[in-house]
Amino acid sequence: MGTNIFDLTGKVALVTGASSGLGVQFAKALANQGANIAIVARRLEKLEAVKAEIESEYGVDVFATTCDVLDVENIKKAVGEIKDHFGRIDILINNAGTARVAPAEEQSDDDWKAVIDTNLNAVYYVAREVGKVMKEQNYGKIVNLGSLHSAVSITGMGISAYCASKGGVMLLTKELAAEWAQYGIYVNAIGPAYFPSEMTSGVMGDEKFLGLIKASCPMGRPGKEGELNGAVIYFASDASSYTTGQILWIDGGWTAV
Ligand code: NDP
Repeated sequence: MGTNIFDLTGKVALVTGASSGLGVQFAKALANQGANIAIVARRLEKLEAVKAEIESEYGVDVFATTCDVLDVENIKKAVGEIKDHFGRIDILINNAGTARVAPAEEQSDDDWKAVIDTNLNAVYYVAREVGKVMKEQNYGKIVNLGSLHSAVSITGMGISAYCASKGGVMLLTKELAAEWAQYGIYVNAIGPAYFPSEMTSGVMGDEKFLGLIKASCPMGRPGKEGELNGAVIYFASDASSYTTGQILWIDGGWTAV
């Protein structure tokens, strides 16, 4: 029997923002490869439901705890609890995120700050705290959630803060990869185009928006559930043993044109 380079049996994966949307999908995909899972977000009832579903479907250990990633002390508390429960953290999917839509000239300070704090500052703070654990282990796989908008903006939407935050995630990914390769910590990112989730529910049914996708994206459609899993498993597993500091666009060819 050959070795399965995507196998995650016995690994511990932390997924932030796993109470809805893509985070839930990532937690399930990693559990399906055999990883034990830690899930964090602010809505505990939703986390409890995800925990029950994953435990019964995949038979792995799931630890759920609340964490507001805007609060560094909260991040430290959650990381400490996860370390106490599992003894280690091998994989971090740095996924919690938010969006606000407003023309740049009208956007409030609060909206700008909420997006930069959640999508960029918190990505750094969570990576920093989990990175300390990974450094002790001399092993870690970090996958940051970039976006199509780490590379390009879009006409007619009003997402300046979101684009700025996700552009920052791409360069943060490269810098952390460069600093932490010596500690056995890999840092990569994925750059999805548009996928169904709570965040995108407002635009996914909108004919004008779907027309924009058709015009901008060679595949002419949004992403579907499950189409990010392959990349996340690749970056989380030993399959990516010579890959760090990269962002993989999962965008139906959008950034190729
Ligand atoms: P959702 O809105 O469905 O999920 C966002 C998650 O982040 C929720 O679980 C939410 O949990 C959590 N979250 C938000 N703020 C905080 C906070 N302060 N502390 C802790 N958790 C928080 O959106 P998606 O699943 O779409 O988004 C997931 C990631 O994917 C984001 O980084 C997003 O930018 C990125 N992305 C999404 C794309 C898409 O098309 N869907 C495309 C490209 C990137 P709770 O409210 O319970 O705290």
